[in-house]
Amino acid sequence: METTEAGTRHLTLRCQFCQTWNRVDAERAADRPKCGKCGKPMLLDRPIKLDDESFARTIAETDVPVLVDFYADWCGPCKMMAPFVDELARETQGRALVAKLDTDRAQRTAGGFNIRGIPTTIVFKGGKEVARQTGAIPKAALVQLLGKA
Ligand SMILES: [Zn+2]
Repeated sequence: METTEAGTRHLTLRCQFCQTWNRVDAERAADRPKCGKCGKPMLLDRPIKLDDESFARTIAETDVPVLVDFYADWCGPCKMMAPFVDELARETQGRALVAKLDTDRAQRTAGGFNIRGIPTTIVFKGGKEVARQTGAIPKAALVQLLGKA
């Protein structure tokens, strides 16, 4: 596994409340880290929401693997898979970053990745795509996909 800054790995993500960018020590992800500006919790026990503004920087500046669920609110299979994505986020805190991207709202990002069907799950490592799966998949398959990073 790659390391930076003397072995400390970081997650880079935007506060869901005040939109300020924060760098979180991956080792401390489960300790309910707080936003440096507004003091609200970063809520890493559930998938973080990405959009066109936050996607690129989060992926590029997060040292642990990032799994992104490209979904839409109207998509039935996405709803079926959502609880698995939630569980994965809870269980991999600090080892991975689990995120969701609404393909209707973040059309620029979704278009850039040539998403052909939803849900599509893509795993990124060091800012690069390393694995992709289209269609709703069970939790074990999500874990397996993340394992490719
Ligand atoms: Zn904040």
